[in-house]
Amino acid sequence: MQCELCGRDCDCRPGIVDGVRMMLCPGCLRHGQEIKSSSGAPAAQKPILERIKRPKVKDVYKDMDKELVSGWNDLIKNARKKKGLSREELGFKIGERTVTIQKIENGDLRPSDKVIVKLEKELGITLVEEVSSAPSVSTGSRSGGGLTLGDFIKREE
Ligand SMILES: [Zn+2]
Repeated sequence: MQCELCGRDCDCRPGIVDGVRMMLCPGCLRHGQEIKSSSGAPAAQKPILERIKRPKVKDVYKDMDKELVSGWNDLIKNARKKKGLSREELGFKIGERTVTIQKIENGDLRPSDKVIVKLEKELGITLVEEVSSAPSVSTGSRSGGGLTLGDFIKREE
């Protein structure tokens, strides 16, 4: 399957970018909002009014303040192995299920901020980077629209 945003051929998942639902590769999915199918779809149960009130573009930028470093899943996996921990043991230490650890290490699941903090602490690694360090973001106003989603994607490749 092809990513509808960057055209990369990979294991794509449904996600929302700027309010548009499309199939996204893991790289592009980080810039959008993943549609979770297994968790009972809490987003769909939200009152429509509440969803309209929240500007979607702003949410995207908020998520970009701190980004997971590239190869974060391998980073976690390698750090865990270095510590001699099994997925079960790591999961126990940070209070997550083994299957969650497995999904995170496979890159199938983006860990929540809470889990990121716990993983960083437990494994002694850094998983997030400040995106604002990029010159194009720090010099201009973020809402100026000088930076498109495409710019973010290109920079990663
Ligand atoms: Zn993509």
